[in-house]
Amino acid sequence: MVASEVRALFAVAARPEIVSLAGGMPNVSALPMDAVAAMMADLVTERGSVALQYGSAQGDPSLRETICTVMAEEGIDAHPDDVVVTVGSQQALDLVARVFLDPGDTVVTEGPTYVTALGTFAAYQARAVHVDMDELGVLPEALAETFARLERAGRKAKLFYTVPTFQNPAGVTLAAERRLRVLEVCRRAGVLVLEDNPYGLLHLEGEPMRALRADAPADVVYLGSFSKTLAPGLRVGWALAPSAVRDKLVLAAESAMLSHSAFAQLAVDRYLRTQPWQEQLKAFREMYRERRDAMLNALQEHMPAGVSWTRPGGGFFVWVTLPEGLDSKAMLPRAVQNRVAYVPGTGFYADGAGQRAMRLSYCYPPPERIAEGVRTLAGVIRGELELWETFGTTAHPHSRGPQTPGPDHS
Ligand code: PMP
Repeated sequence: MVASEVRALFAVAARPEIVSLAGGMPNVSALPMDAVAAMMADLVTERGSVALQYGSAQGDPSLRETICTVMAEEGIDAHPDDVVVTVGSQQALDLVARVFLDPGDTVVTEGPTYVTALGTFAAYQARAVHVDMDELGVLPEALAETFARLERAGRKAKLFYTVPTFQNPAGVTLAAERRLRVLEVCRRAGVLVLEDNPYGLLHLEGEPMRALRADAPADVVYLGSFSKTLAPGLRVGWALAPSAVRDKLVLAAESAMLSHSAFAQLAVDRYLRTQPWQEQLKAFREMYRERRDAMLNALQEHMPAGVSWTRPGGGFFVWVTLPEGLDSKAMLPRAVQNRVAYVPGTGFYADGAGQRAMRLSYCYPPPERIAEGVRTLAGVIRGELELWETFGTTAHPHSRGPQTPGPDHS
């Protein structure tokens, strides 16, 4: 296990004068705090003897039922018995990795992909192999070729890990017309799909996407989370898995933590049963839509020619690609000196790719700060381009990355 290289930056990026487009923290201040506080107080008064007691490793039955109602929004028809509640979807990822991965195994995943998933696979000594995406998500033909190539090399893939909807970090969504094809490619290759979907209900236009799991219940382990639709501080996520896999996940959960926080589970269940959560989701979507638009408009207005970016339909992230010759990690100290931060693209690949890319997030700063940050960043990129065009290098004698470690809220 190794710390992510960009961790050091986050302590610096957290300084108030810096516009951080780096973190992925949901904006929980948009929650009705008084209503949530009253609900928590009622929970302790009315059900304290259960909420403050040990629970089961599979999770509270009433919450598992409510989770099925939430998943129905994305076309999933599931039974509460097949749901395992976890400590955020991150723990679900870890449990799936623990159950399936042996040292030397291969996980196929999008390029780029969620940085902490790469960390989890590495912790189980599995290797990640990337498959390219375009603006419609992962390329089914490239996926099929990757499976075939691995099989020929005697390294059959164990899992296809995918964030098909509003991907972290690329902000790309697998198009509806590609979804069945991707499932078919995985089925033919005999590879289990691990669908990680924390952002699906944060669609900023139209209706929610249909989850991959909705069309292939036996072939997909689905991961969900309340971190973005309610609050990450409660640490409640879940896995929905075919029953044989579910049993193993429960055993793995038991050995990892005995039982999940009963309090957090009952709080989420009560929130979903007593509060207008659909209305709250609409409020979150409106807030994030305004921020996404602020970012896309500022990119359009300020970025020099040769810079390109994705246009997310939901979630938190835009993926920016710099012109030839520029290196986003080398540029980062200069960006921070100019008071803007982002995450360099290489962190989202297991193989060193992504040098010209960066992830920008629009979830946390208010719209005017986002616009200011993008304008500053465009100025830094322009400066780099001038160096590159004049000297054929952007190397700078005084550039040194920040040294202090800090949290990585990704
Ligand atoms: N998967 C993805 C793609 C994410 O972006 C995140 C959060 N950044 C997680 C999983 C983990 O979320 P949590 O553990 O808070 O549910």
